[in-house]
Amino acid sequence: MSKKDLDWANIGFTYMPTDMRYVANYKDGEWGEGTMTADSNVVINECAGILQYCQECFEGLKAYTTEDGSIVTFRPDLNADRMIDSAKRLEMPAFPKERFLEAVDEVVKANADWVPPFGSGATLYIRPYMFASGPVIGVKPSDEYQFRMFCTPVGPYFKGGAKPLTLCVSDFDRAAPHGTGHVKAGLNYAMSLHANVTAHAAGYDENVFLDPATRTYVEETGGANFLFVDKEGNIVIPKSDSILPSITRRSLVYVAEHYLGLKVTERKVALAELGDFAEAGLCGTAAVISPVGKIVNHGEEICFPSGMDEMGPVTKKLYETLTGIQMGTIEAPEGWIRKIV
Ligand SMILES: *Cc1c(COP(=O)(O)O)cnc(C)c1O
Repeated sequence: MSKKDLDWANIGFTYMPTDMRYVANYKDGEWGEGTMTADSNVVINECAGILQYCQECFEGLKAYTTEDGSIVTFRPDLNADRMIDSAKRLEMPAFPKERFLEAVDEVVKANADWVPPFGSGATLYIRPYMFASGPVIGVKPSDEYQFRMFCTPVGPYFKGGAKPLTLCVSDFDRAAPHGTGHVKAGLNYAMSLHANVTAHAAGYDENVFLDPATRTYVEETGGANFLFVDKEGNIVIPKSDSILPSITRRSLVYVAEHYLGLKVTERKVALAELGDFAEAGLCGTAAVISPVGKIVNHGEEICFPSGMDEMGPVTKKLYETLTGIQMGTIEAPEGWIRKIV
């Protein structure tokens, strides 16, 4: 094996094809045997369900090199479970959990040269996804599906320190009550692109989406969950059935309670009370936590006391503890780290 000669610290978050990817097809009511392939192109029928009615779901996780030189993934079992939930909601066949985990191992092993070295700050991002490959013209679930998994190296999320973000309260909604906000489906992203482009054009980093029914409670951004720290230093997590259950956020909640001895409350969080919090952060696989410095609601600025220069102290402690667990410098809870090589 010889590591790819990449400038790991500067590769950014862009797609770079690697050597091998995993493919399995669902046909005649069952999943066929999966294979590894070097072909990064997908050829499907013009009438495939994914192209016509957007029947698709996906996952995102990372592999990285720990301090002792092992290559590991972080809680991939939760990605497997969540993808099963997403598939069910979209009337797609579940991809079996054990096979999902084996596919992650295979993809990482086959692309071991692309796993960034320890200390580089870069990681190998893994993208499992499933889509309707069979033709449908009348509106119904497809009879055929393809499950694929590729990986691509990504650079450190925070180059030169984590700069707090400025968010805006969006005029668009992300997830209808009783809709698909809680599943990881491409369709949730397709319709959030316009809100994203609009927010970026106005100079904001991300949107804050509200509960569409009353537009008074905070839900999440397009691709990350909120975590707030109150003035007592305890954690508050917004509760709603239409928030995507972030694995990072759930892990941070565990870290807060069991490693840092903080109190965590999951409850509805009103837009009107945001000014009472000391710190805010966005949780997701890509960045673990991105600090939020300011939220702008139609001209009204909510500035968190942690400011615009650095992460708040509690957010920072959470960030350092979870990334330490991931990188093997802090002991992980049983079952969190899956060693591949
Ligand atoms: C994937 C995703 C997240 C983050 O989830 P992680 O499991 O922590 O990566 C948050 N919100 C949305 C809408 C997502 O799609």
